Amino acid sequence: MEKNKLLEEFHSLVQVDDHDGHYAEDIKDGDYFGMPLKSIVEAEKRLRSSGHRGIAYFSMEYGLATSCYNKLSSQFPLNPVNKLPENAVFSNFRVADYFFALHQDNIIDLPIYSGGLGILAGDTVKTMADYKLPVAAIGILWSSGYFRQKFWFKYGQAPEKMRWDPYTYPGLVPLKNKIKISLKSEDVYLKLWKYYAYNHKHDYVVPLVLLDSNIERNSQPAKELTDQLYRSDNVFLKLLQRVVLGFGGVSALNELGYHIDTYHLNEGHAVFAFVAKARGLSSDEVDKLKNNFVYTCHTPVEAGHDKFSFDDLGKVLKKEDTEIIEKFGKEHSGLANLTLLSMNISSAINAVSHNHQKVMHIQFPQYKNRIQYITNGVHHCTWMSQKFQELFEKFPATFPDFKNNPMILSQAPELKNNPDFRAQLWEAHQSNKGDFCKFLEKWSLKKDLFTICWARRIAAYKRPSLILHDINRLVRIAEETGPLQIILAGKAHPNDNLGFTYINEVLDKVDKLNVDYEKLKIIVLENYDISLARMLTSSVDVWLNNPLPPFEASGTSGMKAILNAVLQMSTVDGWVAEATDRKMGAFFGYKNSEGSVGDEFDLHMDDDSEELYQALERMAGLYYKTNRKGKVDISSRWIDMMIECVCTAAQFNTYRMLDQYKHLVWKIA
Ligand SMILES: *Cc1c(COP(=O)(O)O)cnc(C)c1O
Repeated sequence: MEKNKLLEEFHSLVQVDDHDGHYAEDIKDGDYFGMPLKSIVEAEKRLRSSGHRGIAYFSMEYGLATSCYNKLSSQFPLNPVNKLPENAVFSNFRVADYFFALHQDNIIDLPIYSGGLGILAGDTVKTMADYKLPVAAIGILWSSGYFRQKFWFKYGQAPEKMRWDPYTYPGLVPLKNKIKISLKSEDVYLKLWKYYAYNHKHDYVVPLVLLDSNIERNSQPAKELTDQLYRSDNVFLKLLQRVVLGFGGVSALNELGYHIDTYHLNEGHAVFAFVAKARGLSSDEVDKLKNNFVYTCHTPVEAGHDKFSFDDLGKVLKKEDTEIIEKFGKEHSGLANLTLLSMNISSAINAVSHNHQKVMHIQFPQYKNRIQYITNGVHHCTWMSQKFQELFEKFPATFPDFKNNPMILSQAPELKNNPDFRAQLWEAHQSNKGDFCKFLEKWSLKKDLFTICWARRIAAYKRPSLILHDINRLVRIAEETGPLQIILAGKAHPNDNLGFTYINEVLDKVDKLNVDYEKLKIIVLENYDISLARMLTSSVDVWLNNPLPPFEASGTSGMKAILNAVLQMSTVDGWVAEATDRKMGAFFGYKNSEGSVGDEFDLHMDDDSEELYQALERMAGLYYKTNRKGKVDISSRWIDMMIECVCTAAQFNTYRMLDQYKHLVWKIA
């Protein structure tokens, strides 16, 4: 009886389109795709009441990692188009690449992200749910996702269109609600979808409202606005994707009746939300509206700051809308600059690491006093492997309640002299590494060989090919210090022609490699995604991060690795600059001089690869002193460093991050 009441309440709050035809089996009896329906009802009710400060979080992308604790599942068999496809491998064991591919019998990630920014948004939203905050997240349902990466030897990467079916993706539902945004010469209609990010206890959610222009009544060009994330080959598409997020987001919040006080712009992509809210207000009212907007900037790289000409804006937006943009977002050159606009209309601005704050102070001196920093983090319940959760559970006196309080990981050094903990820590790591070797079984990876990984979005400043810069040197290290297993992965944006060249270079170097495979294995994985990231960050011995300082705003993959006691080899940039006093591995490389940003295309490859190789020799040397063909020296400094990684994870997580947002940005108790 009570369950029926709950379902009724749910239906009064959430108008699922064609519930009876499509979703009646998955939403019933207090259940929402296998998760508690009650949590949704509670969160939806709170968002509509006015007794609290509601937050709307706007982001172009979300990486939600459903395959983890957040497991929504359907009664129906998984639609094959929503299953992970087979991925190729490109290695210096070309015969294996030819005969075998990688299979994972799993659901695809909700394909609405491209990389780190989306993962950060997803981790933030999940932590908001852990904190039971009244938040609605706004995003876009990308009907063709980002893109699928195919390796194409001699040409690098061939971006393929991605196909998936939102109607059968577990946990995602279309709503009856439709909204409209008005442009200069046409109206664009948007369908709304909902997905729920559950917290790790499953007793609260953050609803994610997704906007979709792919509906019958729209013109063909309008239908394609929400087709593919970050289209940049056409300026109007690029502009209108941002307009859909900003205008559409505000209309969607009104349509759903959510009570919102704070609009959080995760990147300037979403700033048209302000334009929508400012429409028709007096100048005084517009000034007051700024108190409701806050802005997080995520990039020091020039291409990350969107600019449009007023000519182009005038062609698609109504006059009153361009006037607001002109008033708050016009830069010296005469262009509309979305970063400036975002800063001018927000009451709080933040960079995402201390280093990034310094860069922003140089780039935007007139805003110096207003730009704070809050270093990014990762959601520990998402990124800590099962084996490590089990390990920490075995030592409750040191790690009480770590699932609700990752800050407690700072007590890890208590166990530094506990041989039992040291042995179990090593074992947990070896067990993850064993699973990874099994995954790549046809490439005969060995779990007692030194393994290092570089995996992230491919962009010039991240220097994906640094470790391959001097192949002969690399071969010598493998022959003299001990065998090396090197894993590489990452996608380049389809219009980043420079990014493409790195994939070419890497594939070409791997193909030409003339070395005993037992000594040096280089394995390049296709289609880096969340499930690969989870596997890699928890199973290799060393996580390599070598961006050119100061262009990595924060970086987060190293934070995922330290949660799993994976050591770090890194240049000093982003979050790492705040952790260089931690003995977690090796820090190396070029440092930009204080007070200047430098040239993002002067990559310092020669000097920095030399420093990387020296660090690699030291790290591999220590590894083989610690692990001699499976005989492990539990007292080794290597294990001290693993413990230091865990301890450092107490700081670089989204719980610490959200505490700071509550205090410095949203100003809630
Ligand atoms: C964490 C993650 C990223 C971001 O990694 P960075 O180190 O911040 O560059 C990108 N893609 C995926 C799939 C990730 O999981």
